[in-house]
Amino acid sequence: MMTIALLFFFGLAIGSFLNVVVFRYTPEKKVFDGKRLGGRSRCPYCGHVLGAGELVPIVSFIIQKGKCRSCGHRLSFQYPLVELLSASAFAFLPLFLNSAYGMSGTAFFSAEAPLWYYGLVAAWVLTILTWIVITAIDLRHYVIPNELNAFLLILGVCITALLSAYHENIFPFRISFLQNFSLLFSFSDSVVLNHAGGMLFGGIFFALLVFLSRGRGMGFGDVKLALASGLILGWPDIALAIILSFVFGGIFGGVLILLRKKTMKDKIPFAPFLVLGFLLTIFFGHAIVGGYFRLFGL
Ligand SMILES: [Zn+2]
Repeated sequence: MMTIALLFFFGLAIGSFLNVVVFRYTPEKKVFDGKRLGGRSRCPYCGHVLGAGELVPIVSFIIQKGKCRSCGHRLSFQYPLVELLSASAFAFLPLFLNSAYGMSGTAFFSAEAPLWYYGLVAAWVLTILTWIVITAIDLRHYVIPNELNAFLLILGVCITALLSAYHENIFPFRISFLQNFSLLFSFSDSVVLNHAGGMLFGGIFFALLVFLSRGRGMGFGDVKLALASGLILGWPDIALAIILSFVFGGIFGGVLILLRKKTMKDKIPFAPFLVLGFLLTIFFGHAIVGGYFRLFGL
């Protein structure tokens, strides 16, 4: 319990830092620009320098009722949301992965957990944090920074290598978040081939979309995000993630058009829907595919 609480507070602090990264990002500069990330935090509306009490994650947002203490301007919901999501990634993802991979309930927190498993869990936490930052930046700037996609690709290599080297320590069929259903779609027993296949599928599928829509619907940032995340999730998980992202992206876009908030020509950032698809696949992939099959009496 202590460990989970500590991880949660550590995650809140990291989330607070990620908010700074997102708010100070400009498409012309690097994501982790030391100069831009240094210096005191200010209210984006009036420039008021934030005091220590205004920098406490979540708590300050609640106490100030989501408004700047100086000018009263409403603050973005991104602040508490990114903080909570990143805290949850640190505190609860290890627990979820313990059960998903069929490791014992306390594997991650016990001293006996092997080093490779700590590496695997750390790579997943970093993956989720990167997806959160990509979502927030795409929503604000309609762009996915190259460095972040490159970082995801490196994480994909790490996750694939660790799963491949230690797959015998993981509960049977648990390498895929679709568990036993992955057998129906899998073309190979090899972890490396399945993850390389996921990367090719994600990359080629979105490259075709960009080509067919002549760059109006998707951008190359989405291609790179799908490619890197395809390596991370592997086949067939990436396919379910992409299907889910189109379901939710389609519903959302349809509703906006019906409400006349957007027209068919407006740009809608797609990374948030992709990331939603990734997360739903990781946490509910097995349940979603199972429910789909039951719906059709299979
Ligand atoms: Zn202000």
